[in-house]
Amino acid sequence: MAATLRVCSLYPDLMNIYADRGNIAVLRARCAWRGLGFELASVGVGEPVDPNAHDLFYMGGGQDRDQIAVAEDMVATKRDSLHAAADRGAVVLAVCGGYQLLGSSYQLGDDQLPGVGLVDLHTIREPGPRLIGNCAIEADLGTGPRTIAGFENHGGRTYLGDGEQPLGRVLSGHGNNGKDGLEGVHRGNVIGTYLHGPLLPKNVWLADRLIELALGVELDPLDDAMEEAAHRSARRAAGV
Ligand code: GLN
Repeated sequence: MAATLRVCSLYPDLMNIYADRGNIAVLRARCAWRGLGFELASVGVGEPVDPNAHDLFYMGGGQDRDQIAVAEDMVATKRDSLHAAADRGAVVLAVCGGYQLLGSSYQLGDDQLPGVGLVDLHTIREPGPRLIGNCAIEADLGTGPRTIAGFENHGGRTYLGDGEQPLGRVLSGHGNNGKDGLEGVHRGNVIGTYLHGPLLPKNVWLADRLIELALGVELDPLDDAMEEAAHRSARRAAGV
């Protein structure tokens, strides 16, 4: 029997800015087109997560007020499960506001939101403009350097701890903080990024790579003429 990708979407109602749930639609379609099964579970505030029941955990971006609504709940009801899932090699993909909550904290003026500490990073809302615009990075997820292109819009600046690896190096745009040329985080199968677009419709190679990592399979290519045109257009928008 063909494998099934079991996806768990964290706070899909609250954490879904810039149509980030389009990332789920891409994972679903690419599994279906290959005859792979696809199961989607959603967990919201107050609901626990079974670390063994899913191959890929997903969280989108959100406004500060959405993050305020989920941050403490995430620590209280989901942190331990997410650590257990990551430890057994499940994929965790988090975008922007979700990415910020993977670290230790998000400092917003006098308030500090806790993160789940899956990776060593912290985020601060420093004085200065929001970091907005098209962005492209070079990333290597084990198959050689590739480009990821998308759109970023964040007030928080993220700083990786010593020894933590970024998802990629900024080719164009701001990245984690507009200063160090790094974008996102990548530890094992845990990936965080500021890139919307949504991310996966514009970078289907990344969607396929995440499915491969989550299921431990190698996927055959699809006819991606249209998807590659979308990717090229996102790259062009970023000037890369
Ligand atoms: N609210 C966060 C910030 O502004 C994340 C924004 C987002 O998810 N686009 O930094």
